[in-house]
Amino acid sequence: MSPARSGLLAIEDDRRIQEFLAAALAGHGYELLHAETAAQGLRLANANKPDIVLVDLGLPDRSGLEVIAELRRWHRGAIIVLSARSQESDKVVALDAGADDYLTKPFGIGELLARLRVAERHLRARGVDALPKTLEIGDLAINLEAYRVTRAGADVHLTPLEFKLLAVLAQQPGRVVTHRQLLREVWGSAYVESAHYLRIYMRALRRKIEADPARPRVLQTEVGVGYRLVLPADAVAGPD
Ligand code: CA
Repeated sequence: MSPARSGLLAIEDDRRIQEFLAAALAGHGYELLHAETAAQGLRLANANKPDIVLVDLGLPDRSGLEVIAELRRWHRGAIIVLSARSQESDKVVALDAGADDYLTKPFGIGELLARLRVAERHLRARGVDALPKTLEIGDLAINLEAYRVTRAGADVHLTPLEFKLLAVLAQQPGRVVTHRQLLREVWGSAYVESAHYLRIYMRALRRKIEADPARPRVLQTEVGVGYRLVLPADAVAGPD
């Protein structure tokens, strides 16, 4: 397809996952490097400066969480966590520690490519005023500068906190934002444990902007983790 888009480093000791990544990404223009241990991964990351690092949370020599903390000190690219179901709580810790996103094993090709696209878009936008001021998702338009939201051209009236919540998600479309991150950004650091606020405001927000609030397409729940605002281009069709 396209010429090399991004350099990827996968720090993952599971051979099957490594082989899956190689097969899934073949022909998509990514340059893929493999490491099987934390030590080897950190060495390769330092030497090759990959755009995106995929980090398995269960590595043989050190914990993936330590690798993320170490990487965050000098790695400027994105970090995507690869976690097993048994590492659900570590996944949230990893995101709060600076990982950008996660994939829960087993994951499909569609989901992998969608996460990589989101990470690449954020890397391009970082430090540049590249995010559009108005985000259009179907008939929904979110104008972050004018504090204005419309659906099919009609104004949607949001409270200041509802708008702030929507804006935090809209500023990083496609990316998962944890409960703690949302509570800190919208309500302040004293409220990071007040998850019920988030549930109440999210419900109100969905009622105003989702075509079917019971089956939200724009503001998606990541169970036990947080929420993400999904652009149509990043939607992953069906269970894969
Ligand atoms: Ca592992």
